[in-house]
Amino acid sequence: MKMVDGVEIIEFRHKEDWVDYASSSSVRIRRSAELELIRSPYPASLPGICGCCGKLQNMSFGTWHSRLTERGGIELALSETGSCPECRINSRMRFASDILRSHFAETRGSVYLTERKTNFFTALSAIGHSLVGSEFLGSDKNSGEEYDGIIHQDVTKLTYPESSFQAVVCLDVVEHVHDPLAAVLELHRVLSPGGVGIVTFPFFPYQERTVVRCQIKDDGTVEHLLPAVYHGNPLGGGALVFNDLSWDFWEKVKENLVGYCRLVNYWSLYRCHFGMNRFALILSKK
Ligand SMILES: [Zn+2]
Repeated sequence: MKMVDGVEIIEFRHKEDWVDYASSSSVRIRRSAELELIRSPYPASLPGICGCCGKLQNMSFGTWHSRLTERGGIELALSETGSCPECRINSRMRFASDILRSHFAETRGSVYLTERKTNFFTALSAIGHSLVGSEFLGSDKNSGEEYDGIIHQDVTKLTYPESSFQAVVCLDVVEHVHDPLAAVLELHRVLSPGGVGIVTFPFFPYQERTVVRCQIKDDGTVEHLLPAVYHGNPLGGGALVFNDLSWDFWEKVKENLVGYCRLVNYWSLYRCHFGMNRFALILSKK
């Protein structure tokens, strides 16, 4: 366990670490803090320091992205809320900002963000980093080309040279690509030595293995193996989920990036990060 600017970062080498952590007293404290939050007047508001604007803000939490599980419980998605009223970015984006802030300290650097038409891009631009943002605009588009002023990139085949950026940030994208390992390796390739990468995605720690929901057939069409699940897409419509990622995905990442990746879970009262189901890969390079 490690504290980074008031954020508790818990690292898991393998599933057994998670099993131990999930039954620890730290988790009981986290869960009771979450329960307090959802029992407070709706929508709940808590003061915390925003890693993007750096100010004390009232973060607003709600249950609007939470859903009922098949067993009748509630799966809270608190990291999708907890928005800073000034930056208009949620807890997950603020966490990436916390990591960038701790990495760059008072300096600024070149940052690649796999989004362009979002509040997060606008908020990060305001900090003064040299920011490049792209969107996936469709499989008929050419990576690296601009369409109506927006760069198109397929995260599994980035057109940037090796070591192009001092930081890469890719939030909740890799579950939407057919080859999530290729995406992580590409993000690591374009990272420069001494840089930091933050890759978040829904992770399913109680599963043994990744559940493949759909795949791309030889003719390029999508074959659904399970009922289709879509997440919100800033460009409109929905983004199809290809994989419910689990420990076998992490094992593959670890094998390919020996020593240069960490799988972490995080939370913070001071910076208002709640929700047990939040995991991220933190990438580094020598
Ligand atoms: Zn803010």
